[in-house]
Amino acid sequence: MIAGPSGVGKGTLVRRLAQRLPRLRISVSATTRPPRPGERDGVDYRFVSEEEFSRLIEAGELLEWAEVFGHRYGTPARPVHEALAAGQDVVLEIDVQGAHQIRSRQPDAVLILIEPPSMEELERRLRERGTEDDARLAERLATAERELAERAAFDHVVVNDDLERAADRLVAIIEGSPSTP
Ligand code: ADP
Ligand code: 5GP
Repeated sequence: MIAGPSGVGKGTLVRRLAQRLPRLRISVSATTRPPRPGERDGVDYRFVSEEEFSRLIEAGELLEWAEVFGHRYGTPARPVHEALAAGQDVVLEIDVQGAHQIRSRQPDAVLILIEPPSMEELERRLRERGTEDDARLAERLATAERELAERAAFDHVVVNDDLERAADRLVAIIEGSPSTP
């Protein structure tokens, strides 16, 4: 499972991974966050209402969930269980809180933290993406510092400096692991 600060390039890397390793299943999270321009329902996220998200929690349909920057995000359990039962590896792109929940429920999950080359570069990428106003950007950078302080809890740390090189390292980790969220 892949975690790391907002803007570090997780989404970009996961899309790259899906191209390189077509047998990988990529988990599509449910979220109460509104879609950004270009995001597609069912592809980038399953966009749901607050009521629907509460129902998913109560029905036990989420493997983990967390509140991140004022919205709720969670991993639908069924696709993950189905893929693992079929012997497929699954990639979850989640935040550090979610990574801790998965770790306690699925001790053999492989946890990978994606790090930025520097905090300055992280800020540059967030600004370049252009999806956050200044207050939200500051909040994401402060959270990034806390998340990166937890690197010892991860099995692997990959620096997303050059996109292709970082994708190569992820492929090597996944190919070397018997079971992968
Ligand atoms: P996340 O999913 O972690 O929030 P994104 O995948 O949306 O991050 O990436 C944030 C921004 O950084 C995007 O504009 C993306 O194009 C850019 N980006 C991602 N990886 C790299 C990289 N290795 N070098 C330069 N820019 C990158
Ligand atoms: P964004 O709004 O930028 O797409 O994502 C914000 C944060 O939510 C990121 O840190 C991302 O990893 C996290 N996130 C996305 N999906 C999930 C999920 O299913 N569970 C958890 N715990 N976090 C998620």
